[in-house]
Amino acid sequence: MEREDIVRIEGRVAEIGTGLKIARLVPSRMRRTIGAWCFLDHAGPVDFVVGQGMDVGPHPHIGLQTFTWMIEGSVRHLDSLGSDQMIYPNQVNLMTAGKGISHAEISPTDKPSRLHAAQLWIALPDQYRYIEPHFQNYPTLPVVHQDLFDATILVGTSFGITSPVSVYTPLVAVDVLAKKTGTFELPLDSSFEHGIMVLEGKVLINGESLETGSLLYFSKGHIHVTISCDASTRILMIGGEPFKEELILWWNFVARTQEEVEQARRDWEAKSARFGALDEAVAGKRLIAPSLEGIHLRGAHS
Ligand code: MN
Repeated sequence: MEREDIVRIEGRVAEIGTGLKIARLVPSRMRRTIGAWCFLDHAGPVDFVVGQGMDVGPHPHIGLQTFTWMIEGSVRHLDSLGSDQMIYPNQVNLMTAGKGISHAEISPTDKPSRLHAAQLWIALPDQYRYIEPHFQNYPTLPVVHQDLFDATILVGTSFGITSPVSVYTPLVAVDVLAKKTGTFELPLDSSFEHGIMVLEGKVLINGESLETGSLLYFSKGHIHVTISCDASTRILMIGGEPFKEELILWWNFVARTQEEVEQARRDWEAKSARFGALDEAVAGKRLIAPSLEGIHLRGAHS
């Protein structure tokens, strides 16, 4: 396929926490953002033995919302607002960092466990990026039942159904789980750009094959894609209005200028009240920010 409005993005393998391998699909050299979605990690599926698991100690965020879609397993979220929330399959955790928050994510390690999740960041637009931080768990999301598949509406509106998940720019995210082998159309919003990735199995999208670890990007103007797959295949579609503001992503911060990033880094290292605090006996050891020495951050948008 050589249509320039459709781009194949190969994910990079990275490691987060202790030994948890993930495929990072956004940002990529090809696309920095898809709508306001500025980060997309596909974690697992992976099996942990007793004592192992996701273990990301206290760390700060600014200027974004962290969005977790749990497919298998469970993770405990702790944050500096006092939230202590287990997230289970088919649930969303949404943490709005705004001007500053810190959190930790820990797997239960008392029994063997499996983890499969999509973890995303949503850039906050300028007028909302200094808001007070808040956290919400969404225990149930609306599901559209069709003959060939179930579609869970994670963010925005699809199939005429709107998700309760609260975001600050026009966005969409839909999880599609095939129930039978077949071919169906997935509607897209022509004013949005979109990305489609495979969470499990493999698919043909408009005749183009796609497996886990890669993403197909569609620019504005598409009203649907045609998907062929087997039963039990699961895909994630994300999209949004192209994000016009130039972003600087560094470590766990989404900002606009180097000065903001430097200030956030200093505030974290100084244990400023800006990011609150977590009990390290429960949440683990707080992460140390990487050095910014000699680094010149440049803004980028897609
Ligand atoms: Mn985080």
